[in-house]
Amino acid sequence: MSEKPTLLIATANAGKLREMRALLNLDGLRLVSLADLEALHKIEEGSDYAENARRKAASFARITGNWTVADDSGLEVDALGGAPGPHSARIAGEHASDTDRRRMLLGLVQPHPRPWTARFRCTMALASPEGSVDLGVGVCEGEVVPAEAGSGGFGYDPIFLVAGRGQTMAELSEADKNRVSHRARAVQALLPTLVLRLNLHGPTAPIDPPAR
Ligand code: IMP
Repeated sequence: MSEKPTLLIATANAGKLREMRALLNLDGLRLVSLADLEALHKIEEGSDYAENARRKAASFARITGNWTVADDSGLEVDALGGAPGPHSARIAGEHASDTDRRRMLLGLVQPHPRPWTARFRCTMALASPEGSVDLGVGVCEGEVVPAEAGSGGFGYDPIFLVAGRGQTMAELSEADKNRVSHRARAVQALLPTLVLRLNLHGPTAPIDPPAR
């Protein structure tokens, strides 16, 4: 019997890892992750989602010899001209917590009139050990709200009201987040290529149509 193809998920973020494991749970595919990915923080220094995702995935594919997926994501707030965007991880400094970042973002939007319309954007890169890279992009529309709600997800989820849902991303179950999120849509966009390149078959998770 031939061995299952292996896909490395290159992220140091436990929340992303959990979601990507669920989204990429495909028949005939073995998922692996790395325990210590400190090096990722050094790789991810650009201001372009695609370039950051591409660099992360390609580096780890080359180093490990595995097909690798990595994403770069961010929150784009219209009142801030699309910021923090690709800088979403760094708006409160290098060693800040998710709580620090949410507080910083709320401070930035406070002077602006509501609604603070926004979207999460995710670019997912699939890299081969030989150096080819394919990209998938996903967006989830919504608005930033001043009061935190919910305990699921991670990052900005408690202050991001999902368009058409009346709930913050952190109030959704993990399965529901994985039907509407930017990351789910990016995986969905990349899936036909992934299935083709790794020679997979089998059902894929259902995704809801975009809210707007
Ligand atoms: P990066 O893609 O690791 O650079 O993450 C960018 C920033 O956006 C980090 O602060 C993440 O916590 C945050 N972020 C990325 N994806 C999500 C998400 O699905 N929900 C909430 N915050 C997120």
